Amino acid sequence: MSQTKLFGTNGIRGTVNVELTPDMAVKVGCAVGTFFGAKKRLLIGYDARTSGPMFTRAVTSGLTATGCDVYLAGMAPTPALQFAVKNHKFDGGVIITASHNPPQYNGIKVIWKDGIEISHEQEEKIEKIYFTDKTVFADWKNLGVTHDLIGINSEYVEAIKTHVNTAKIAEKHFHVVVDAANSVGGLTAPVLMRDLGCKITSLNANIDGTFPGRLPEPRPENLAELAKLVKALGADLGVAFDGDADRSIFVDETGQIHMGDKSFGVVLKQYLLENLGAQVVTPVSSSTLIKDIADAYKGTIVWTKVGSVTVSQKMKEIKAKLGGEENGGVFYGPHQAVRDGAMTTALMLDIMAKTGKKFSQLVAEQPQYFIEKGKIECPEEKKLAVLEKLLELTKGLNTNTLDGVKIWFPDKSAILIRPSGTEPAYRMYAESKTQQRALQLVKEYTLKLEKMLETI
Ligand code: MG
Repeated sequence: MSQTKLFGTNGIRGTVNVELTPDMAVKVGCAVGTFFGAKKRLLIGYDARTSGPMFTRAVTSGLTATGCDVYLAGMAPTPALQFAVKNHKFDGGVIITASHNPPQYNGIKVIWKDGIEISHEQEEKIEKIYFTDKTVFADWKNLGVTHDLIGINSEYVEAIKTHVNTAKIAEKHFHVVVDAANSVGGLTAPVLMRDLGCKITSLNANIDGTFPGRLPEPRPENLAELAKLVKALGADLGVAFDGDADRSIFVDETGQIHMGDKSFGVVLKQYLLENLGAQVVTPVSSSTLIKDIADAYKGTIVWTKVGSVTVSQKMKEIKAKLGGEENGGVFYGPHQAVRDGAMTTALMLDIMAKTGKKFSQLVAEQPQYFIEKGKIECPEEKKLAVLEKLLELTKGLNTNTLDGVKIWFPDKSAILIRPSGTEPAYRMYAESKTQQRALQLVKEYTLKLEKMLETI
């Protein structure tokens, strides 16, 4: 990690005992405690990773050293901890998780009192305390104390149930296959669906921080077993969570895996039918499919930069009640303005019950797009110059320049070209009504960027 940055796109992340060590975690705890201030009440929890308890103790040590009182929630999905911070009126919280990263990683996310992750400006304040050794330690009489807080997972499940028609869902006796990735999704989602009257078949439901069943990222290549099982059992729906259960990816009854744009589209359409003219927040990386649905049902899209915190913050700012990301993150404001895998699953069952349609039908009704991705290497020091040239080149086209450049073409094709946040590269996401046109767009802009790089 660099000498001035701790936080990446999604909190602090690193490989255990290499990039992220217990002594660093103590120091992060000290910086976070100093940021919140002595006497504040903070909630801490962790996902299923083997290093979770170790980092929880280290961060707690740092927090109590600065005089913060720490409430220990134990193992919990990120959205359950976020809900508890808000519900119990804590001053903030910390969750030890590396979300979708492989097992050897862990991370630290800091939560504000509204349950949303802290902003990048607040992260910078913590980094400054961390790197300039500005921790304010409490004296021995004023050290923080720790308390156990049990039951946050069941409170979270109960809260989700208040947002859906439980009786209507129960009437349908849906059979759902749940792939919990051997992590915290297994602590809440199966209980929720059982309460909703569903028949549950569990896959990778035992907690195991080595993630023996599959990698924690719910990508199609990791979900073959789930897809096969849904089809073989004749189940109505399959759902897979990421490592901290804030994202959910769905499988229809034919065993087809649908990426996040499509499941978000299903939720979006129903939401707009019931909330005419509502504002919806989504990053520029989302498919045109989302824009099409919003246009068709009189919704207004508010675009943001890529990143879940940005979506949450924008929802809060404009009081929007729905947000979504292409990676399977749906933000349902009436519950909480953060990504929430179990809430999304409940919404999906609610929509299937209300409409009487199978998940495959709900997806088939949507406009169809083909997607192609591309990547071109670009040294960090050239990223800005490339962006400037790209802005110049695309002047006059229908673009959005919030995060890289997104171009919409008259034939309903689109391409997003943005600098990678984690690698020395530019990434491209093209979509079109035909695979050929999407591929052609990636090729065309790869050539353009290569030319630019030669002259910079
Ligand atoms: Mg996650």
